[in-house]
Amino acid sequence: MRAFTYRGPGVPAELTEVPTPTAGPGEVLTRVGANTVCGTDLRILRGEKSKGVELGVVLGHEVAGYVEAVGEGVTGFEVGDLVSMPPSVCCGVCGPCRRGTEHLCDDVHLVGYDINGGLADYWLIPRTAIDRGQLIKASGHVDAAQLALAEPISCCLSGLDNYRVEVGDLVVIIGAGPIGLIHLQLARIAGARAVVVSDPSETRRATAAALGAGVTVDPTAEDLPAIVRDMSGGEGADVAVLCIGVPQLLNDCLNLVRKRGRVSIFAGLAGEGWSNIAANLIHYREITVVGASNSGRENFVRAVRLIESGAIDTASLITHTFPLSRATEAIEFVASGEGIKVAVIPD
Ligand SMILES: [Zn+2]
Ligand SMILES: [Zn+2]
Repeated sequence: MRAFTYRGPGVPAELTEVPTPTAGPGEVLTRVGANTVCGTDLRILRGEKSKGVELGVVLGHEVAGYVEAVGEGVTGFEVGDLVSMPPSVCCGVCGPCRRGTEHLCDDVHLVGYDINGGLADYWLIPRTAIDRGQLIKASGHVDAAQLALAEPISCCLSGLDNYRVEVGDLVVIIGAGPIGLIHLQLARIAGARAVVVSDPSETRRATAAALGAGVTVDPTAEDLPAIVRDMSGGEGADVAVLCIGVPQLLNDCLNLVRKRGRVSIFAGLAGEGWSNIAANLIHYREITVVGASNSGRENFVRAVRLIESGAIDTASLITHTFPLSRATEAIEFVASGEGIKVAVIPD
């Protein structure tokens, strides 16, 4: 089969011919339906993220596939089922796992890092993932590219668990890429009275507006803090979600929320993630700052159900599709910053 494999930090990945895997006992083999490309894939290829990434691994962690073969002893799946899984396969016994936060596992194995991912013709689901109940079946009417988005949606749900949106909240989202547009939709589902989305790109703002942002702001031309103050009787937003990894924007978020407001550092920052902030804003205004990393099974199932029900609009997030034979172009296109989400589909 063809597979887009990692060849080292900064080395262009290549579509190569590799042996097609077979489903051993306890495993499930899927024929890839779609793999959506993530910013993390770019960071891996550029060498910005290499920890835990094995040479030769098939890249891609946002995958949905059709069951092709069911290994001995596996029950509950049939050939043709459309399936996906959260990419982190956790150990189940470390401190974070025992506390019910398996997405923070100390000994995690990740699809697209050290488990072969979905930029290929076939995707093998490892036994540990099946044993842990990670493989999730979607109902028939869902499109594979839409199901692949269960991964980023589940990560956003995991972030939302930390920053919370309460009925009537005013939420500000910084960045209208795929992640910002997912947080926007989740905030609306969670009961926000209004969601303000800030992004310099006009096309992204238009998508945000179509997905229900009450107000969209061009931060290069408009006064975002003034707009937020106006909408909140001068107090500030209840929540700000940082969806772009630009260090200075974190301080902006601290200035946008009200006293006792919440700020989510959803986007990872480059390198060690240093950022200059006025820490006294957190101190005197009693601001809560929370993080977000990966997602576990529970949020993944919630994401799949949100996609199936149509509660989250996934179709408008997938703006471009490339065949697997043009995977390199797909990655370059994502790097260009155009479009929202790019799906790679075996041709
Ligand atoms: Zn991703
Ligand atoms: Zn663990």
